[in-house]
Amino acid sequence: MTIHEALLEAQAALAQLVEANEAKLEAQLLMQHVLNVNWAWLIAHANDALQPDIHADFESLLNRRLLGEPIAYILGYREFYGLKLKTTPDTLIPRPDTETLVEVALAKTSPFQAEKILDLGTGTGAIALAIASNRTGTQVTAVDASQAALNIAVENAENLNISNIHFILSDWFAALNNEKFDVIVSNPPYIEQSDAHLNQGDLRFEPMSALASGQDGLDDIRKIIDNCLVYLKPQGWLMLEHGYHQAEQVADLMAQIGLTHIETIKDLGGNDRVTIGKNPLIVSTHWD
Ligand code: GLN
Repeated sequence: MTIHEALLEAQAALAQLVEANEAKLEAQLLMQHVLNVNWAWLIAHANDALQPDIHADFESLLNRRLLGEPIAYILGYREFYGLKLKTTPDTLIPRPDTETLVEVALAKTSPFQAEKILDLGTGTGAIALAIASNRTGTQVTAVDASQAALNIAVENAENLNISNIHFILSDWFAALNNEKFDVIVSNPPYIEQSDAHLNQGDLRFEPMSALASGQDGLDDIRKIIDNCLVYLKPQGWLMLEHGYHQAEQVADLMAQIGLTHIETIKDLGGNDRVTIGKNPLIVSTHWD
């Protein structure tokens, strides 16, 4: 059997699970993985014979995928904002929607200033690493309450040679001292605990603590908003990812604690995805 023939078979099987385009892409990704080659090699060698042992490896990965295991966990990585990130069942799988949060953070920070940025619930480190690598003058602090997730984030930073970032084991702000930040970003869990999506697709395999957050999905968002002013510099920004139907509630919570310039930004799919607000306090000057 040739590589191409094996790909076609896999593609047909995967089409039961995902859309046709996605099925083709996933079949190719699994094949690249077992052959340890890039996409260009795969296409150029489509008519090569597939060795039986490699074919067996391919079938075993394919079967895992057909049982619903996320492609990111099978491959062990996911691309996010141009970065290849190690991704395991200890971490949420980085999603394209979250690139919106990175874009917003980059838009509000300057490449020419040494700003301090905090990422709450960093998981694989996706957001923190994307910001740190595009704002090399900044100092990024990334926290997570899961030591297992933090280990992955640290490994990702090392693999990518990104050094303007440090990692702290912390339940949201709990382990932070009196440090203040120019920007606080977070993609916290925000799904309603009774949402049926938690029992579907990739979400079944992801850490529940990174997905669900109480009855209305806003428990963690409330915690972050209620505590953020202690850690935000005057004029600093809070930027939160949330569910497509949560923008108004998040904006209200931000308004309640006095944040200004509140704005919601849509993701590439056109859904409300990120809401930001600014600490209105001005640095006061004392003349004694
Ligand atoms: N965006 C993810 C989803 O809806 C959820 C991630 C999260 O809760 N932060 O699948």
